[in-house]
Amino acid sequence: MNTQFFAAWIEEIAAAVRAQRDHLTQLDAAIGDADHGANLDRGFTAAQEALAGASPQTPGALLVLVGSTLIRKVGGASGPLYGTAFREMGKAFGEAAEISPAELSTGLNAALSGVQRLGAAAEGDKTMVDALAPAAKALAQAVQDGLKPEEALEAAAAAAEQGARATVPLQARKGRASYLGPRSVGHEDPGAASTALLFGALKAAASR
Ligand code: ADP
Ligand code: MG
Repeated sequence: MNTQFFAAWIEEIAAAVRAQRDHLTQLDAAIGDADHGANLDRGFTAAQEALAGASPQTPGALLVLVGSTLIRKVGGASGPLYGTAFREMGKAFGEAAEISPAELSTGLNAALSGVQRLGAAAEGDKTMVDALAPAAKALAQAVQDGLKPEEALEAAAAAAEQGARATVPLQARKGRASYLGPRSVGHEDPGAASTALLFGALKAAASR
């Protein structure tokens, strides 16, 4: 996976977030403040503009730029968290021009660590970590099992989807939704849902 692949990933994310903007906002309206769709749409649109302006030459530089842009442009909890995720993945890639599935797996683990260092959420707290952690685990397992890259990304996307759906019965213990206590039960976490979109977009970029 080269720089062009990661640029395609960001394009796919921006398109998916735009298409799902109202859905993400509705999820956030139920247990938050109804801005998650708008936050991410603004952030990934800005990320695409930043990429068009700077034309980064490596996957690492591209992802660091995306992360920095998200931190700058997205208000709320999700901006710094997603921004850190992309920055940490980019930093893990270093100067490499081509990223193998094993390196992608390492990068995702770095992203997950960054999100958890910043947000202190564990799995089961009803946050984006509930989609990100299973996806990172599924990718690591797929790499270990020697699956083809497309199959590995498919497995990661399926795990993220399943992780997001599994947030519905949980009570939120982190973020704005935690203020609702037991009333947060019965709704999908918006950040977990958007993380599933990110992994769907990764799969889509691979099948271009
Ligand atoms: P805000 O909650 O500030 O309005 P967003 O609506 O953009 O920000 O994002 C909300 C999402 O951020 C939540 O659905 C959750 O997935 C994620 N989130 C919030 N706090 C944390 C945290 N401490 N760790 C991980 N994810 C978090
Ligand atoms: Mg919100």
